Amino acid sequence: MTSSNTLPIRRISPPVPAHEHAWLVESRHPTSEGTVVYVRCAGCSTRRVDMQQNPSAPPMALSTEVQVERP
Ligand SMILES: [Zn+2]
Repeated sequence: MTSSNTLPIRRISPPVPAHEHAWLVESRHPTSEGTVVYVRCAGCSTRRVDMQQNPSAPPMALSTEVQVERP
């Protein structure tokens, strides 16, 4: 049996264009290890969790970048 209907080609969504993430702090949580900082990129909504061990040190990424699926 042949079908004239072809299945739609499932398009792979293109990767987010590389850009310098513009991290916005969503929340901070002081812990005994330092301050856990939840950040979100203003440009692509990628999220990441950082750890800032002291206020003068730059935060280190605790988590990998998590791409938030948009509807
Ligand atoms: Zn981004």
